[in-house]
Amino acid sequence: MIGLPKANGILRRHFLVGASALAVSACVKPLVTFSQQPNRTRIILLGTKGGPTLTTRTNRSNASTLLFINDVPYVIDCGYGVSRQLINAGVSLDRLRYIFISHYHSDHDLEYGALLYNAWTTRQSPRVDAYGPNGLRRMTRNFFNYMKFDIDTRIVDEGIGDPRKLLTVHEFSRSGLVMENQDVKVTSLRVRHPPITQSYAYRFDAKDRSVVISGDTAYAPELAEFAKGADVLIHEAMYLPALEKLIQQNPAAKRLREHLLASHTSTEDVGRIAARAGVKTLVLTHFVPGDDPSITDEQWTEGIRKNFQGKIVVGKDLMEI
Ligand SMILES: [Zn+2]
Ligand SMILES: [Zn+2]
Repeated sequence: MIGLPKANGILRRHFLVGASALAVSACVKPLVTFSQQPNRTRIILLGTKGGPTLTTRTNRSNASTLLFINDVPYVIDCGYGVSRQLINAGVSLDRLRYIFISHYHSDHDLEYGALLYNAWTTRQSPRVDAYGPNGLRRMTRNFFNYMKFDIDTRIVDEGIGDPRKLLTVHEFSRSGLVMENQDVKVTSLRVRHPPITQSYAYRFDAKDRSVVISGDTAYAPELAEFAKGADVLIHEAMYLPALEKLIQQNPAAKRLREHLLASHTSTEDVGRIAARAGVKTLVLTHFVPGDDPSITDEQWTEGIRKNFQGKIVVGKDLMEI
């Protein structure tokens, strides 16, 4: 544990190293500018890439979205890199409070356990509630077994609390109310993501804003009903011409293409859903493909524009909406 220096020590040090401190603070400054209205519901895209691969070809981390509701963070999906992206967004991990998993594909849950673990190591012992379809309890237990040696060692050796006692897991197996507190009501809708049958969209109705997150889904008209009147719809997006290009380059990708077509939503259909839902703002995320830097923002939106006339945001990592 690092002790806190005395107040006058901080002042003196600040005075002496003013210039270099400025340089350092420029480096560690959160990439997201904090809103002037702390109680406003904020949306920050932590990871906007679809699929499990990691890439440096685009600046997209794996899937995760953050909502700040009354200054409390709600993390939806935990793709690889979510802990780092939270820190990059200026959210210290001891603030972790709520996690929601849409379905058990690795690009949505690979860092679920590691995020809990990383929050635990801050020693501020956050209390965390995690929500997801059936299977979350088993996955959580398996993660803690995977890390059992390290956790048990640290508890004894470092006098740190037991992370297994900090977490409450909540499972569900059908659409409906997921949780409700004084700030927000969260509901879920089962969507279409074969072969996975338990894949869900979430709707967050806060006092000032309603936000729907599609999760992974093929075209699902019922999602338009679920998102009716929401202020913001955050929807996955698949760009079909890029898939055709992929097939031409690699015929073995045919099977992958079939899977993608059956379980994700083309940009044209995303536009249909947004128009039917009557949302004010559509935010694109979970880009498929998410590792092709040649696809422009205009290309992501042109199919949508055919069907939806509202505001479209082509999501970028650490963008705030
Ligand atoms: Zn996915
Ligand atoms: Zn998926």
